[in-house]
Amino acid sequence: MAFSSVIKSIGKSGRQILRLTHTSQTAVSVCAVRCVHSNHDSFKYSEVQIEHSKVLKPKPDQNNLVFGHNMSDHMLTVPWTERDGWSTPRITPLRNLSLHPACSVFHYAICLFEGMKAYKGEDGKIRFFRPYDNMERMNNSAERASLPRFSGEEMIRCMARLVQADKDWVPDSRTSSLYMRPTFIGTEPTLGVNYPKHALLYCIVGPVGPYFETGTFSPVTLYADTAHVRAWHGGVGYAKMGSNYAPTIKPQHDAEAKGCQQILWLYEEEHYLTEVGTMNIFIYWDNEAGERELITPPLDGTILPGVTRRSLLDLAREWGDFKVTERRITMAEFQKALAEKRIVEFFGAGTACVVCPIGKVLFKGDMIDIPTMDNGAELCKRFYNTLMDIQYGRVSHPWAMEIDELIDLELSDEETTSIKVN
Ligand SMILES: *Cc1c(COP(=O)(O)O)cnc(C)c1O
Repeated sequence: MAFSSVIKSIGKSGRQILRLTHTSQTAVSVCAVRCVHSNHDSFKYSEVQIEHSKVLKPKPDQNNLVFGHNMSDHMLTVPWTERDGWSTPRITPLRNLSLHPACSVFHYAICLFEGMKAYKGEDGKIRFFRPYDNMERMNNSAERASLPRFSGEEMIRCMARLVQADKDWVPDSRTSSLYMRPTFIGTEPTLGVNYPKHALLYCIVGPVGPYFETGTFSPVTLYADTAHVRAWHGGVGYAKMGSNYAPTIKPQHDAEAKGCQQILWLYEEEHYLTEVGTMNIFIYWDNEAGERELITPPLDGTILPGVTRRSLLDLAREWGDFKVTERRITMAEFQKALAEKRIVEFFGAGTACVVCPIGKVLFKGDMIDIPTMDNGAELCKRFYNTLMDIQYGRVSHPWAMEIDELIDLELSDEETTSIKVN
């Protein structure tokens, strides 16, 4: 094997290095060099320490789950310092963090997060959905937030181990799931506006119910906000950084007072449609040339690159039943198409709901009706059913990864519980 290809593989994962050491003499020496500094590149799943909770909390009523209110028994924490690199990952009982009041997360919002789910299938197996995509995005957010990168694969396997420890918290339901919230914060306890020398990566998980209460689609009403901007060119709209969300809470509250559930985020004088609340946006229409087409705004830095967005684009391109286009679209174009009865469906897409049909838009004082439901929301349903079948393991698909396969079998429970810390 050529030296350059060895180097390339090394970037990918520790597992690959292990395989390489058996095949290439060059790889052995490269690995040796790397292992010395390994904790500067990433923490290792193989070193995870587990402290089981002695008291298990009662599980909440599965039929009455409010998003983000219920947390499981355990959490994952991985501290990092500039001097020593990554510490050993630890799974411990869920507990409060103890942080110095000067920590950069409190002052300069050095923080970012991910939103993912673990699904329990009818076969009893628990699966993650495209977790590598979330980890790639998390590392991109980390880079922009001046936090260190880490191996997505090691983090996925640590998270799989956390979910296994809390497997009884994964709802036994075709529509509920275990929400996972990997979070990364700057814990540098000094006030300088600087690269943090201390950071904490952690993950908490908790059961969540279906987005639509009745289990059937109910369309949402949007407030097309012409006063506030979610993201802008040269900004950080593409990163899931905490600083993107705090400023949206008041406009969201004001939109609710106007009878709308979500904000339709517009941009520039042309009122480009960008996102809906914390979802990506899709328009399914007959374009001016008379072609049936699915449109979503391109990843130009102002759009959060959703895993659901990517999945819908991948599926639609694979089906090949209509044109698929990533381009910007203005409110004027959208309204013209609406007047000409060319809008078939209009919907949001995200992990929380998969797809969310839009029924009305309040724009400049006018409540505009959107015929998504009148047209049967057929595309919404097709996307929804296809993704649910993959996520709940009803069909076998490489996007769904069984946690048992992500967890190293050698690292059995007995071994890890013996390494109890404090
Ligand atoms: C998280 C998020 C999305 C959706 O991303 P998914 O990976 O599909 O859940 C879309 N827009 C914003 C602003 C988000 O924060």
